[in-house]
Amino acid sequence: MTFRMGTAAFRDEDCDHPGLGLRPPDRAPDLGKMPTVHTQAQKTLNVQPKRVPMADLLIRDVTLPDGSHTDLGIHDDRLVDASDVIHARIIDASGLVALPGLVDLHTHLREPSPHPAETVASGTAAAARGGFTAVFAMANTDPTADSPATIARLLRLATTATAEVIPIGAITVGLAGAQLAPIAAMHAAGVTYFSDDGHVVMDASLMRQALLAVREFGGMIGQHSQDHQLAGPTACLPDRRSSNQDSRKQARLDHGPTAPTDTSATVWPRVAEAVIVARDVQLARDTGARVHVCHVSTAESIDIIRWAKRHRLLVTAEVTPHHLLLDQGLTDLGDTTFKVNPPLRSEEDRFELRRALADGTIDIVATDHAPHTSADKALPFPQAKPGMVGLEQALAVVMETMLAPGLMDWSGIVERMSYTPARLGQIATRQGRPLTPGEPANFVLIDPTARRRVDKDAATSMGRNNPYDGLNLPDPVISTWWRGHQTFSTQAG
Ligand SMILES: [Zn+2]
Repeated sequence: MTFRMGTAAFRDEDCDHPGLGLRPPDRAPDLGKMPTVHTQAQKTLNVQPKRVPMADLLIRDVTLPDGSHTDLGIHDDRLVDASDVIHARIIDASGLVALPGLVDLHTHLREPSPHPAETVASGTAAAARGGFTAVFAMANTDPTADSPATIARLLRLATTATAEVIPIGAITVGLAGAQLAPIAAMHAAGVTYFSDDGHVVMDASLMRQALLAVREFGGMIGQHSQDHQLAGPTACLPDRRSSNQDSRKQARLDHGPTAPTDTSATVWPRVAEAVIVARDVQLARDTGARVHVCHVSTAESIDIIRWAKRHRLLVTAEVTPHHLLLDQGLTDLGDTTFKVNPPLRSEEDRFELRRALADGTIDIVATDHAPHTSADKALPFPQAKPGMVGLEQALAVVMETMLAPGLMDWSGIVERMSYTPARLGQIATRQGRPLTPGEPANFVLIDPTARRRVDKDAATSMGRNNPYDGLNLPDPVISTWWRGHQTFSTQAG
């Protein structure tokens, strides 16, 4: 089966996992001719201009994700061969690692909105702080991004952003789950990824129509998997109470045939996620269209996604940094910072999420960066808004949970946080590219040894709902570069 992603067609049989190649892009896009510039130095020395006679920046002795060392030249918005660089500003990067700019497929930028908890400017500044050069903006704004006009409005706001902003279109009008949004018209405005995130598309028939609509142009539907009958609007607490318990045994106690039915409206049972994932996998099978499972939180969902990949269906999935690191016990404390949707889960779930991310069952890490005002979090737990920020600590958390224990190396992190999200979002001609001459100069310089205690009040994001506040975590990002421009630096005042 062949499907189209960006400008290149990938065949399923080429891929490590059915439906999605995990190889880095092997063919550079046509990036146009590099300009030929005659520098004063060359004129004086009577040196014949080379392909790229002058570069703006030379990064010396940097380590690439595969462990090799190199010098990176940057001229304008492109990487160039270091030997072609003359009169460059030089950065000594010995001991530092260069990664392709990170790509987040799940960001809530909160604009447009009359009273935004984040702006495109502050959100993309937070993205740059975290090493991201591209973010996909979720559609649950005010107004909802369910029309070409709102998509255009977001893109206008993004013209001065410090990272590329790619709009996600709503699946249904107003995220109400009743009427299909104008998917074809939004696609004509440049949208390829559609999601009602924050809400599930409960109506299976409507979900099927949406999948058929995006299949026309090789698009993708992202689902916030939360069965509303099983986990309603006030659902917020996980249904396993302690990570110290034997969770399989606890699951039997909670859900076995003799278990009493928990009627509490505040419980967000794990089955509410799995039943939607299972349904959508079957709809992907039926339609041949691409389903992306947002923020997977349970071992049961992973089982279903693994089954879908074995059957070579076009099903992909993401995990958030907070579900990789944080335990459901935190929600017992009543601190609404830890209220998130789906809720934090058990130790066993975290272990399974890490394993699934390592083996490729889960394709990418996506932040679900969800800033809220302090007022929206200063409510009783069931009424407080769900969500937590994530852009600035995402890489740190992945280093802590995946790199440090040896579950994943830098190349794996690049796959899950840059190459694959760029390919899924169909921006792989300009983001998620290897760091080789001719490619866009989108990269992040990392000090893999730096650590720091997280201080939520020192955040770049407007959101203070930071679940990592007070934790000692890696603090790797030294500088972020997008199209050859520095968008973040620890040196900046
Ligand atoms: Zn969601």
